[in-house]
Amino acid sequence: MAGALNFDIVLIGGGQAAPPLARALAKAGKTVALAERKYLGGSCVNFGCTPTKAAIASARVAHLARRASDFGLRIPHVDVDFEAVIRRASEIALESRTGLDRSFENSGNPKLLRGHARFVEPGFVLQVGEARVTAKQVVINTGTRTAIPDIPGLDKIKYLHSGNWLERTRLPERLAIIGGDYIGLEMAQFYRRMGSQVVVWERGPHIAMKEDEDVSAAIQKFLELEGIQFRLGARIQSIDDLNSPDVFIATGRKPNTDDLGLETVGTEMDQHGYVIVDRRLATNVTGIWAAGDARGGPQFTHTAWDDYRILVSQITGDGSRTTDRIVPYAMFTDPELGRVGMTEREAREKGLKFRVARFEMNRNGKAREIGETGGFIKVLLEEGTENILGAAVLAVEGAELVHLYVDVMNARASSTVIRDAIHIHPTLAEAVQSAVS
Ligand SMILES: Cc1cc2nc3c(=O)[nH]c(=O)nc-3n(C[C@H](O)[C@H](O)[C@H](O)COP(=O)(O)OP(=O)(O)OC[C@H]3O[C@@H](n4cnc5c(N)ncnc54)[C@H](O)[C@@H]3O)c2cc1C
Repeated sequence: MAGALNFDIVLIGGGQAAPPLARALAKAGKTVALAERKYLGGSCVNFGCTPTKAAIASARVAHLARRASDFGLRIPHVDVDFEAVIRRASEIALESRTGLDRSFENSGNPKLLRGHARFVEPGFVLQVGEARVTAKQVVINTGTRTAIPDIPGLDKIKYLHSGNWLERTRLPERLAIIGGDYIGLEMAQFYRRMGSQVVVWERGPHIAMKEDEDVSAAIQKFLELEGIQFRLGARIQSIDDLNSPDVFIATGRKPNTDDLGLETVGTEMDQHGYVIVDRRLATNVTGIWAAGDARGGPQFTHTAWDDYRILVSQITGDGSRTTDRIVPYAMFTDPELGRVGMTEREAREKGLKFRVARFEMNRNGKAREIGETGGFIKVLLEEGTENILGAAVLAVEGAELVHLYVDVMNARASSTVIRDAIHIHPTLAEAVQSAVS
């Protein structure tokens, strides 16, 4: 097309899948453009995983300092400098983003195009900012944003959410968090440890709804011990019900697909606006693919990143890599919840034959020595084979420890491999072994 920039492949959204994919496709000989309307790195780098985990690290130090006497130490007063905590988290996020920016700065292929991208004509003609662009293939990696619930009065206040929390450098005295799932619970513990009074409002009968009830009950208990309050089965009629000057919205995410012009090319979406893909990440339109949070399915940085490997395999490789994969995940509360495979509820619904192996962390030597005895490990072991159907590691470093189960599951091996191995003493990894012994 005259006057247009022409590429083999245009990637829309510079989050977690597209930057490595752009480089890999360019290396394979394709001409590639990456369109980003705001910040490279997307949600994870700029306000999600990176700064939340940095902030949670500050909160953990405050928590440990308050527990100093448990270790025979005296720290008379713990003074939180909230502004400095937010600054540290922002700086760590910025460092990652700057690294990414630099890696694309002088690159001719892949070429970074700044601006909002949208399909404007069939045959894959896009508008990216001021530029007209054509592509033979397109990858949609536009991610999600906070879904704002319809609560009367909410539009009248300046509420916090996962996209703007870093802009707020004054610690809320009282904070109502709406939504008791991963983001809500991580942020609840963060603000509480910083010194806020926190109430979590959850409309479901228990928090962390996808988890087994014994797991979510244990998480609720340790958060309550730190002074966080819960309102379960909550029906919020008006923002006044919350009786809180500050509110944090954590009720879920919605896909950034509403302003992409997908109707121009006929790409199918589900009822929530997620792009429908098959196990190859192909949409119903040949040549259009989707990766990361914007396609239906698990919404994590590591799955978005794995989508990049799938698309390299599909677009320039032998096509053998697909979404048939084991997806672990974590909730970065303290103790952490590391998870893989089925919950007990799911395994029962499927009618599988298994036993539940459970190990309390207070029986592990290392956990006692470091004063981190909260939580337990729960593993579902298939009858006859002792294969791991699923595991929940609710423990200090639970997000790390669960990988022992993840790798054995990926090897299609039995838990007896872990049982019969020698694990170093004293370690938390001994608890992972004890649970399946
Ligand atoms: C508070 C929070 C904490 C999280 N913590 C974790 C965690 O600990 N571990 C974990 O695995 N996951 C975590 N996640 C989820 C993780 O951030 C996402 O799963 C991941 O970022 C998805 O990557 P993505 O590439 O699909 O989308 P994103 O990272 O959201 O990137 C999408 C990009 O597309 C751009 N874009 C959108 N539309 C257009 C357009 N039309 N034109 C041009 N550009 C466009 C956006 O600006 C954005 O940069 C967290 C999320 C949040 C919100």
